[in-house]
Amino acid sequence: MGIKKGGWFMARLTLQLPSNARMVVVSNRGPFVFEETPGGLRKKEAVSGLVSALLPLFRGVPGIWVAWDGCIASGKEINRAYQEGNLKWLGVPLTQEEVALYYDGFANQVIWPLCHYFIEKCIVNSEWWEGYRAVNQKFAAFSKKASGEADLIWIHDYHLALVPGFLRRRGADGKMPKIGFFWHIPFPGPDTWEVIPWARDIVEGLLGADVIAFHVPGYVENFLSCVASFTDATILPNRRSVLYRGRVIDVRAIPVGVNHELFTALGRDETVREQAGLLRRQIGTEKIFLGVERLDYSKGILERLAAFEYFLEAAPEYHGRVTLVQIGVPTRNGIGPYSDLRRQVEMMVGRINGRFGTPSWTPVQYFYRAFSQRELAAFYLAADVAVVTPLRDGLNLVAAEYVVTRDGGSGVLILSRLAGIAQHLQEALLVNPYNVAETAVAFRRAIEMPASEQQARLEALKQRLARRTANAWVTAFLKVVLEHEVGKASAGY
Ligand code: UDP
Repeated sequence: MGIKKGGWFMARLTLQLPSNARMVVVSNRGPFVFEETPGGLRKKEAVSGLVSALLPLFRGVPGIWVAWDGCIASGKEINRAYQEGNLKWLGVPLTQEEVALYYDGFANQVIWPLCHYFIEKCIVNSEWWEGYRAVNQKFAAFSKKASGEADLIWIHDYHLALVPGFLRRRGADGKMPKIGFFWHIPFPGPDTWEVIPWARDIVEGLLGADVIAFHVPGYVENFLSCVASFTDATILPNRRSVLYRGRVIDVRAIPVGVNHELFTALGRDETVREQAGLLRRQIGTEKIFLGVERLDYSKGILERLAAFEYFLEAAPEYHGRVTLVQIGVPTRNGIGPYSDLRRQVEMMVGRINGRFGTPSWTPVQYFYRAFSQRELAAFYLAADVAVVTPLRDGLNLVAAEYVVTRDGGSGVLILSRLAGIAQHLQEALLVNPYNVAETAVAFRRAIEMPASEQQARLEALKQRLARRTANAWVTAFLKVVLEHEVGKASAGY
């Protein structure tokens, strides 16, 4: 069972690292962000799936977290290191220009759209690329300074694809800490990557790691195809390892898990249940559909709204009896496609409510803000149906959280086939989110599903997720890294 500490719900990890090893986690954002105020720096806890999955590690093992501190470096010297228990946090200062080039530019307007198959939104811009390289070099320098050769470095996500390669170059004397890399978003094949001129650099950057992992086997296969297309590396016959410049790199599918302890506990928590009851009374319709995500074009919010409109057109008998609650969390505000999407969503919500609403019924209730996970759990309990229909998603945790939180045998999950997690959740009502008519049919099917079928599907989904916990993910990944022997292919070759 987990414990609650400092706002984080932390389960115990069973994995042991070697006694002299420290964990060095490197990610764009870490467990803290700092705000520069007239009274000095103010530290805030940042909650994210990654943070709550990795923090338990630092209960048993000393470690360092290297991450951007969230504020714009003003030039004046401020202390960007902070210690809490076993965890030392080391902030990487970034200037406004670096954030614009590396984060808003290359990471979020080149790699993100490309990897979610929105090629028309991907902008080929070499200044952004140079900025991305420079910031990756900076992260590598901070990580190198923070780590010793006995340590284990775990780098996260598409913001930092070049860090493993830069670290490898910096450690040219051969004495290197082990390096693991987890890629959290989809990884397309070479025919998509070759749209940008830097595909080879990115793949070679990743190959600086000892272990590279993705959520699902399809992304592993795409990565191996890219390795074959863009580099002179050899893919070993087990298709689990790559031989590159005399080193063996292990490549695995290890999907991130849900914070099981937290959401199971929230689902049973009396005050959360009361809050859910209150929500149901306030919303007031017989059936409630729920959509929850960052307001990102990859999440399929416009297509979902179109499907709901189609459903209302086709099912006048449900007018006044159903509500779609749509939570859109503000994200990447400074970037054009995101403000465009916000406008389009607001227009569409207005159109549906204007077209079908009555003085006593608002068909779509839309919230443009973030909720705490405790508040979200109340929405999960209140909703008869979760509608998780991204156009493409690396995995998708909301779908898993909905299933884990439900505690009573009812509840239906409508899930996009194009979300990584759909590979594990086959008992959901699976839809092609681009096919608005198919999603509209699923809306009806979900609210008309007999209680016994709901129970059977939900139970099967819960069982599938029982082993896929956040802890299991961390343990499985680190096990591969710890077992990785430099220069040797893993078992099975
Ligand atoms: N989330 C949250 N507050 C909100 C909406 C979402 O804390 O208002 C959390 C949610 O519980 C989940 C995560 O944000 O853990 C979203 O993860 P997911 O994999 O679904 O999507 P991502 O945002 O990583 O693309």
